[in-house]
Amino acid sequence: MSKKVNEIGITVKKDEDFSEWFTQLMKKAELADVRYNLKGFPVYMPWAVRSIRKITRMWEEELEARGHEPLLMPLLIPESNFHKEADHVEGFTPEVFWVTHGGDKEFEERLALRPTSETALYDMYGKWIQTYRDLPFKRYQSVSVFRHETKMTRPFMRTREIHWTESHNVFATEEEAYKDAVENLEITEKLLYGKLAIPHIFFKRPQWDKFPGAINTFAADVLLDSGKVLQLPSSHMISQAFSKAFDVTYKDADEQEKLAWITCYGPAHSRNYGALITFHGDDKGLVLPWDVAPEHIVIVPLIFKGKEDVVLEKATEIKKQLVDAGYTVRLDDRDNFSPGYKFNEWEMKGMPIRIVVGPKDIENNQVELFRRDLGTKEFVPLSDLQKTVDSIRDSFTDNLRDKADKIIADKTVDGKTEREIIAALDSGKMIRTCFCSTDLDGEACATKVEKELGGEVRGEKFNTKEELFCDCPICGKKANHVVYIAKSH
Ligand SMILES: [Zn+2]
Repeated sequence: MSKKVNEIGITVKKDEDFSEWFTQLMKKAELADVRYNLKGFPVYMPWAVRSIRKITRMWEEELEARGHEPLLMPLLIPESNFHKEADHVEGFTPEVFWVTHGGDKEFEERLALRPTSETALYDMYGKWIQTYRDLPFKRYQSVSVFRHETKMTRPFMRTREIHWTESHNVFATEEEAYKDAVENLEITEKLLYGKLAIPHIFFKRPQWDKFPGAINTFAADVLLDSGKVLQLPSSHMISQAFSKAFDVTYKDADEQEKLAWITCYGPAHSRNYGALITFHGDDKGLVLPWDVAPEHIVIVPLIFKGKEDVVLEKATEIKKQLVDAGYTVRLDDRDNFSPGYKFNEWEMKGMPIRIVVGPKDIENNQVELFRRDLGTKEFVPLSDLQKTVDSIRDSFTDNLRDKADKIIADKTVDGKTEREIIAALDSGKMIRTCFCSTDLDGEACATKVEKELGGEVRGEKFNTKEELFCDCPICGKKANHVVYIAKSH
């Protein structure tokens, strides 16, 4: 990848061949390399990692502001921990990577590479939490989790190693726990929509699709240009079977020993990044929301023979002025690449602003400025430069969000029959329909949707009671829930 492969831009259109578009974007914007010799484990490259770190930090700051403190749990979990909670072990065992040896000596007990950390953390929570005075107890960690994914993998979207933050929180009452689960959705809304500019819908997952060991799972789904939804942060009300299994109990003020209530919340930052690059990216490459972009401004000097010094001097001066104003600025003075090549490269990488300085501009006391959100170019007098950049900064992410809202607006349609559902799925849409049940007795209809129609029942809209408008299109019985169906990544 250090050999320059991005001589030209992406050669397919995103809306014509999404899969190839994505593959080329990975290479040409230098985001991920899938050539590491372990399937499902892509290598993430600096330009992507710098953004993922920013995204991670956003979530950590929100959690910390709400009283969650960081800790770091061991990566390995003894197998016996898994067996303490039956639903959890059943749900996760097929995906677990096991460590069986230390050197050439076989362990008596297998160790799991954590697929998620409930069974590690709650073992300790049982030891740490004693009385009602210890509650609420809110912790988080930002780590990798490992799942032996059997579906086709794709960098950022579906991989066997996921970079995420997991927050696990203990409360005295169900009401407090539920309040926390809702608060987690608020964090998702604030960051996913506010900072990453990704429109999404919150669903309460059907009972057959909840997190193994949870009472209820709430998750944000985003519909991508691929015509498939991607699950973004999910928030779970953990079953008290977990508290029981790990002895997460507390002595209440009335001296009674009580089972605690637990929630967990798992924003996967590599996935969030995958969603945002596919959502905002275009045929020229990446488009990054302002707070996610690793750098904000590139200055490209137009070097002419005999005028090198004056141009570079001016470019350096402009850089200093913008750095002093708090911007992350790169002066691209590489002399072995043409300006045209540099323009394409930085557009491909989604640099929000490009400033070009040439001898003519210096004479006219101006620069040429290109902004990636609108794709427009203008000449800006040097005296107005900082003001112009400030105003771009302030509107950049809003512009991406407006565009995203427009794209998503007509992507959800109502469907009352199998035929309507199939037609809508084939045209890359999400379908709102009525369904017999989101409890386990509706699972047979959901399985038919998946096997015969090619979609998945994503759930009911969170905290929204929608009016029924048809019978269950699958079994024909009276419907009790309005659900959404989509293909999924
Ligand atoms: Zn049905």
